[in-house]
Amino acid sequence: MPGSRSKELYEKALSIFPGGVNSPVRAAVKPYPFYVERAEGPYIYTVDGEKLIDYVLAYGPLFLGHKHPRVLEAVREQLEKGWLYGAPYELEIKLAEKILKYYHPGGMVRFVNTGTEATMTAIRLARGVTGRDLVVKFQGCYHGAHDAVLVGAGSAAAEYGVPMSKGVPSDVAKLTLVAKYNDLESVEKIMRKHGEKVAAVIVEPVVGNAGVIPPKPGFLQGLRELTKTYGALLIMDEVITGFRLGLGGAQEYYGVKGDITTLGKIVGGGMPIGVVAASKEVMKELTPSGKVFNAGTFNAHPVTMAAGLATIEVLETGEPYKVANNAAKTLVETLGDLVKRYGIEATINHVESMFQIFFTGNEVASPEDAQKSKKEVYVALHEELLKRGVFIAPSQMEAVFTSGVHSEDVVEETKKALEESFKALRERGLI
Ligand SMILES: *Cc1c(COP(=O)(O)O)cnc(C)c1O
Repeated sequence: MPGSRSKELYEKALSIFPGGVNSPVRAAVKPYPFYVERAEGPYIYTVDGEKLIDYVLAYGPLFLGHKHPRVLEAVREQLEKGWLYGAPYELEIKLAEKILKYYHPGGMVRFVNTGTEATMTAIRLARGVTGRDLVVKFQGCYHGAHDAVLVGAGSAAAEYGVPMSKGVPSDVAKLTLVAKYNDLESVEKIMRKHGEKVAAVIVEPVVGNAGVIPPKPGFLQGLRELTKTYGALLIMDEVITGFRLGLGGAQEYYGVKGDITTLGKIVGGGMPIGVVAASKEVMKELTPSGKVFNAGTFNAHPVTMAAGLATIEVLETGEPYKVANNAAKTLVETLGDLVKRYGIEATINHVESMFQIFFTGNEVASPEDAQKSKKEVYVALHEELLKRGVFIAPSQMEAVFTSGVHSEDVVEETKKALEESFKALRERGLI
């Protein structure tokens, strides 16, 4: 549990930041979040002198762990040359070429600063290209913090979007239609009625913002066909899955290509980034060559370009994928054994280096299913692990991530913590 220095800082922060933090999930670590002193490899060192094995990895970006030497070197080199120009720079071409090779050969890229900006720009682009206003998203999928996608994350949302945040005008939310993940019929129904007005369907190809939920066979293919039939664009939001499920992300992994890809997180090597990529035909509609507006003081930030490029070069060796996927596989097996040993009901969803355990007897095929599993048991597991030096996401609605630095000895240590934590959950009468 976080110690007195963290407590002191958090109490101060509560009077300075709304809820004490600058992004809501950070406040979910109870009774108060630990404050970080520094981080290296798979470890976070807290201001209270604790050393934690990190399976949160900043909620996705750090596929090479903290402070990877190659990334550090690239960033240092860049800093020596200055860090912001407001003019073009060769590194942006190099990183874009890598992205295009794996996602849209022959296409084009726009660099922005966050995943939020990437999906916002992708949706505007789809609207601009098609001349249509409606967008279809899936209940419980997360695409960032802008108005068009802050819809359909609460159970109240029906077919027409209900805003999940105050401050989103209902007239704006109405333009977002909400379908059910892994349920093609729900999409067909919307398309039959509104298809001619739908600019885009946006989807997390693997849901990583409701625990981990893989697509059922045929689901992504079905979206591909439906969007084609109705002349809408398919936006694959690979902000989490991009460069995680492999260099080509979920689109390569499942063999289904979207019209527009949004990336973020890993591709910035831990620096702020968002990417919109698509065919030339679509991308040329962006300003200044086209009339769909996008601009940004920090777009294609040189430090981000350097960190991202170094990260991809390390990923191209294939080694980080081996380590990360092995780590996840071992931990999922361990969890499976523990579930059996304790005779409890749980569903473990797992794709490559991302997984989540849901305490439920049912299949978890949609964010609504995830919501229905026993939250209090998961939260207790998170607490017990944290006491034992292992940091997993504080909510079952986030993913557990492994990285290229979660080597076998680190995983071995984690296995022990898992065994002791399950024992503690039994003693607390929770399982
Ligand atoms: C994190 C995330 C975003 C938003 O990215 P930010 O950089 O946090 O703005 C968008 N889409 C998905 C799928 C994400 O996981």
